Formats: sequence, C-alpha cells, structure tokens
Amino acid sequence: MVRAENVHKSFGHVEVLKGIDLEVANGEVFCLLGPSGSGKSTFLRCINHLETIDAGRLSVDGELIGYREEGDKLYELRESEVAAQRRDIGMVFQRFNLFPHMTALENVMEAPVQVRRESRTDARDRALQLLDRVGLGERAGNYPAQLSGGQQQRVAIARALAMKPKLMLFDEPTSALDPELVGEVLDVMKDLAREGMTMIVVTHEIGFAREVADTVVFMDDGVVVEAGKPADIIGNPQHARTKAFLSKVL
Ligand code: ATP
Ligand code: MG
Repeated sequence: MVRAENVHKSFGHVEVLKGIDLEVANGEVFCLLGPSGSGKSTFLRCINHLETIDAGRLSVDGELIGYREEGDKLYELRESEVAAQRRDIGMVFQRFNLFPHMTALENVMEAPVQVRRESRTDARDRALQLLDRVGLGERAGNYPAQLSGGQQQRVAIARALAMKPKLMLFDEPTSALDPELVGEVLDVMKDLAREGMTMIVVTHEIGFAREVADTVVFMDDGVVVEAGKPADIIGNPQHARTKAFLSKVL
C-alpha cells in the first residue's frame, strides 16, 4: 500500500529524513516510534505530500505521490491532482482541528459534500453511521466545545473515514489527551485495525503498538534504526538507540 524508497527531506541545511526505506502492506498496522525530532511527522506529511521530498520515491497503492513519471523523468503533479491523491489518505493529528462552528455531524459531512459532491442526505446518513461507529451517535448535534478531547478526536477520526480513505495516517492522536481519555480513542483505532484498514500510526503508546501493530519501526535522527514484529522490536530490541528510547517510554 505504501512504499518509501530512499526518501530524503531537508529543511534548509538540516537533513531531517536521510534515506527512509519502508513498505506497508495492505491492511497492515504500522507503528512508528522514535524520539522527538527524529522525523516521524515529516515522514507522515511526505506521504500525503504536505511536504515534498528531495530525493527517493514515495508511492501509495502503486501511485507515485506528487509526481508523474515519464520515462526516467518526474513531473510535479498539478494542485488538483495532488488533491485527488490526498482524498484517499485520511490524516488524524494530535490536535483535533475540528471546525468549531459546526456540529459533530456537520464536521463529518463537510468534506463528502464539498469535496466528493455527495448529496446532503447520503452524506448525513453515512456521517451518522460513522459517529455511531466511534461511539458518538448521541452526540451528533454537539459542537466541538461541548465535547471532551477524546470525543473530539473520535469525531476527527469519523471525519477522516467519511472520505473512504484507503490509508489512514495518525500523528500522535492521543498525546494531547488527558490520560483517562486515551483508551477510548485507542479502542476506536483498534476496531479500525480489526476491520482491515491500512494504518500508519506515530505513537508513544507502546502498549497499543505491542498489541495492535503488525510492524513496529523505530526511527532516530532521520533513519530507520530497526523494524520488525512488535515482540522483537519492543520485546527484544537490538540497537542501543532503540533500547535507550524504550527504557524512557516504557
Ligand atoms: P515529535 O516527536 O516531537 O513530534 P518528530 O519525530 O515528529 O518529533 P519532526 O516534526 O518530523 O519530528 O521534525 C524533525 C525535524 O525537522 C526537527 O528538527 C524539526 O525542527 C524539523 N522541522 C520539521 N518541520 C520543519 C519545517 N517546516 N521547517 C523547518 N524545520 C522543520
Ligand atoms: Mg511529530
């Protein structure tokens, strides 16, 4: 589903991604761990072309992200073509970024109506189903300010799912939440994983990674230090940097 080959990204003189090679299979739950500043968010942002990469290749579902290939040349896609690629990739951030002036229901309906041009009736039906699925069927009429952080984040997940993405990216979706609200968001993500969604999750929730991930990747300083099954990477890390990181977060 996602293939990264030798992906490089710099900001000015600072090289943040120093040749990332990764492959995420269809239906796989892929957890990305690593210290602050190691390039995790940057990598996620490259996947939906919120950042352009400087070298290497990045493809989703066999399609090169941000570029069209002709012979051995790459041409940048037009903004509308990039937008079309992005539509298939759901992203959930640390901050929920809901529209404050819209109810939960309206937040979830917005993109299907505005971007996918679905009828309001269809979008509404589906939004209600999705809110139900994240346990918020009763809260459809609430505004974000009337919802807890955990509820807002679940609305954000429903909103991303409303676009019927083939891939979901999560960037520390629980780290802005009070501890007692983390579980309800992780439960929604676990359900999603069980239903076969392909997911890349940047998280410090080691328990989640151990339980749900098919593959865990430890990144440090812009490189993949080690990758493998959770039992190996979390249970029996080989590299000193992975050990040092885990000893701090476990
Ligand atoms: P955290 O765990 O704190 O979220 P991270 O692994 O997600 O960290 P990134 O946000 O990808 O790390 O940042 C990696 C490096 O790139 C950092 O040194 C950061 O300062 C730098 N960086 C990220 N975005 C930009 C930008 N737009 N302009 C300049 N530097 C940036
Ligand atoms: Mg980050």
